[in-house]
Amino acid sequence: MQGDRLLNKNEILERYFGFRTFRRGQEEIVDSLLSGRDALAIMPTGAGKSLCYQVPALMMDGVTLVISPLISLMKDQVNALTAQGVRAAYLNRSLTDAQFDKALSNMAAGVYKIVYVAPERLKSVRFLNAVKRLHISLVAVDEAHCVSQWGQDFRPNYLNIAAFIEGLPIRPIIGAFTATATPEVKGDIVRLLRLEQPKEVTTGFDRPNLFFSVLRPHQKSRELLRLIEQRRDKNGIVYCSTRKRVEEVCDLLCREGFSATRYHAGLTDEERRQNQDDFVYDRKRIMVATNAFGMGIDKSDVRFVIHYNMPKNLESYYQEAGRAGRDGEEADCILLFGMQDIDTAEFFVDHAERNPELTDEQNEAFLQKERERLGHMIAYCKTKDCLRANMLRYFGEESSDHCGKCSNCLSTFETVDVTVDAQKVLSCVVRTGERFGAQVICDVLRGKESQWVRSFRLNKLSTFDILHEVRPKKIKELIDELEDQGLLERIGAGKPTLRVTDSGWLVLKGKLNVQAREALTVKTTVTEPAEFSGGELFEALRSLRAEFAAKRGVPAFVIFSDATLRDMCRRKPVTPAEFNQVSGVGEKKQKLYGERFIEVIKAYMQDQK
Ligand code: ADP
Ligand code: MG
Repeated sequence: MQGDRLLNKNEILERYFGFRTFRRGQEEIVDSLLSGRDALAIMPTGAGKSLCYQVPALMMDGVTLVISPLISLMKDQVNALTAQGVRAAYLNRSLTDAQFDKALSNMAAGVYKIVYVAPERLKSVRFLNAVKRLHISLVAVDEAHCVSQWGQDFRPNYLNIAAFIEGLPIRPIIGAFTATATPEVKGDIVRLLRLEQPKEVTTGFDRPNLFFSVLRPHQKSRELLRLIEQRRDKNGIVYCSTRKRVEEVCDLLCREGFSATRYHAGLTDEERRQNQDDFVYDRKRIMVATNAFGMGIDKSDVRFVIHYNMPKNLESYYQEAGRAGRDGEEADCILLFGMQDIDTAEFFVDHAERNPELTDEQNEAFLQKERERLGHMIAYCKTKDCLRANMLRYFGEESSDHCGKCSNCLSTFETVDVTVDAQKVLSCVVRTGERFGAQVICDVLRGKESQWVRSFRLNKLSTFDILHEVRPKKIKELIDELEDQGLLERIGAGKPTLRVTDSGWLVLKGKLNVQAREALTVKTTVTEPAEFSGGELFEALRSLRAEFAAKRGVPAFVIFSDATLRDMCRRKPVTPAEFNQVSGVGEKKQKLYGERFIEVIKAYMQDQK
């Protein structure tokens, strides 16, 4: 089977994918694989890892095998490739025996350039027999971190990959691709996949199109409704930490008339698949899910990811939030933080199942590491400095102090002296015997005769009713602030109680002042130019895209990404040659869709006159 050797890599990029330039890191990987050298690419979600092996696959003789852990992802990728005129197929357990045999014999007959295969298939005898007679030029291992037990996505079947490759008559070139790579994981990838002096390319972790924000709403449900209302007709994911929360939030959104569905491990396989499809195929706009959702979702037009709860570490957060804006267009990543999230996350870390394949010491070391990671996650939620800088530095990257595109950089703060109110709060904690949590303290300070207050006779204390005029939200914020500054600490899990620290006592004795930065305005998005979003032309192109997607039974972004539609809005092409210039329009899509899209653009231009 001949590759397109006659075309160079740039021509391949243009003809099949409709792009004129490689993104950062892509070309180096492509060059390395084409020159016969293994490669390890560490690039964030949405950076464009697939192209790094798809371009060489089309130029090399023989077949490229792509090993990928997720079945849903294979289907989408093969759909997308087929739509671009690339002969591709997948082999996994979603196929019937007859379909599997058909795909195998096609593969043996040289019908495909790219074949996606699930790692568990690498041991199947039928597969091994079919492969022996093939010329496999390249093996691309996607989500390569799954080979490592250090990560949370460990797949034991990934350990078969090296033996499989060794069993082939000719060793193919190996490319490994991942978005997460701590030094341990990276070492595991090289060692366990037996990469030979791989060309290593790490592009920055930064995703410039993402807007990061952390909010501390008084009432999360109300804040969520407000954020989603602001983002009418956009696709988004809401992550919650528990199944129960997923159910509640999804119910809430549906009751309020939003188009939402849900995903968690408590649903049947069938319902999970159905709900996921509803989201991917744009039948439902919002996916409410636990972290079980997302790996293997390549939906490129997710415009926001809201975390209803704080995840347990920044790796998970960045991976989940990173599912927004894969097409490179603007997208928002919002984390709703509350102090109770800390307790939940601590509980999850402490009660995580031990890995039976590790020794006790290894398990203990892992747990210790998890606690440290949680500490960094909490620090991210609490920082008043640039959020992007906080994250990039955590991943070991240099960063400027001010990204200008996160809630901390773009919000206006004022610094106020809150010593007197702080003293009232601290003194209330002391007078009530350091036996209560934030709610009771708040009730006492505001003079609210709640049940606890009456039964413990807290209304007789001198600190009763001394912050009568302050709203509960403000008092809770102040308690959080005092905790952040280490003046108060929470003791115990579940229903923690507050205690004054040594520095807190300095405040009480009048030896230390307390300053707080209060946010005057908080931003959670950049304002987009109205012309390109929700504009008339964009909407018209979108509905034409939906028509094609329905007809072909594929998700809308397989026809064209949002980025491609926006480029059409910018260029307003009215001839085939102009249409061909649009980013994301290759030869095949030009043929299939060019005419109809041009019609719509022409009609729009006519109306404008
Ligand atoms: P990853 O696997 O790294 O998360 P993907 O391979 O799924 O990312 O690519 C993400 C998006 O970026 C896709 O919509 C893809 O079409 C787009 N993309 C990839 N390379 C380019 C490029 N050179 N120019 C423009 N868009 C690109
Ligand atoms: Mg990918």
